[in-house]
Amino acid sequence: MSSLVIVGTVAFDAIETPFGKTDKILGGAATYIGLAASQFGVDGAIVSVVGGDFPQEYIDLLSNHGMDVSGLEVVEEGKTFFWSGKYRNDMNSRDTLVTELNVLADFNPNVPSDYRDAEVVMLGNLHPLVQLSVIDQMNNPKLVVLDTMNFWMDNTLEELLQVIAKVDVITINDEEARQLTGEYSLVVAAQKIMAMGPKYVVIKKGEHGALLFHKDDVFFAPALPLEEVFDPTGAGDTFAGGFSGYLAKTGDYSYENMKTAIIYGSALASFCVEKFGAERMIDLPKKEVHQRIQQFKSLTQFDIQLT
Ligand code: AMP
Repeated sequence: MSSLVIVGTVAFDAIETPFGKTDKILGGAATYIGLAASQFGVDGAIVSVVGGDFPQEYIDLLSNHGMDVSGLEVVEEGKTFFWSGKYRNDMNSRDTLVTELNVLADFNPNVPSDYRDAEVVMLGNLHPLVQLSVIDQMNNPKLVVLDTMNFWMDNTLEELLQVIAKVDVITINDEEARQLTGEYSLVVAAQKIMAMGPKYVVIKKGEHGALLFHKDDVFFAPALPLEEVFDPTGAGDTFAGGFSGYLAKTGDYSYENMKTAIIYGSALASFCVEKFGAERMIDLPKKEVHQRIQQFKSLTQFDIQLT
């Protein structure tokens, strides 16, 4: 098993969905990625920053899920990154109400020396210059996966394009893929993104599953039709954590193995949306994950006789 370096926000979130509203709760891209990757028992390290207002119990929660937090800087006099969002009634679209970068504004990441040889790097959502600095600190990783979002396309596109040029895989949602390329067709968008650098492009389509593109090949993983979607926050990051965690665990970075990785990502994301915030991902029993993978299998398996 290889180790995994995870970069991304560790945050406070305030979320509103048609089912209710939360005060500041634990959130952040790296939080969701770490909790999802912990399912595979990988040796993972979180590289991020929080303020002095961030409770020690949240840091303990991450380390109790097997995450090394020595690269999680605490700026005592600063405030933690804060994000607030409100979902529309269809739960597929959301409006960002607040993004306060706070301590993230002048963060210089430091990858712990024990993790500089890690084979897999998961660059979760945060400033592209931080993502670039992490790539520079690594000694020849075998797989660098990038997740990003419209906020960084709107505010730091040039820096983001520099990161995109350096990664092997990008995970991005459908709207963001269209924004990045100006193409409506996701197939054309994926081809254009591959021309920017990544050999593999994963396009997430929320409740409609995810597509994996590589050269001229495409693979589709459905999302599980769920009775109740409570709060989609973190589903994309959880997907990324499941994807990269599975790849780090198996050490196999082939296209074939990435197909299984996106099934794991989708299965874990389907848990994430069942409760507010990261609640469902905390101490999620492996047995339940296995059952859900079985459900995914039966969702798409069929026999067909071609005459
Ligand atoms: P997702 O629903 O997968 O897009 O991720 C939601 C998480 O991303 C929340 O926990 C937020 O704290 C975090 N987040 C929101 N906006 C940003 C941003 N601009 N950069 C990094 N993380 C963000």
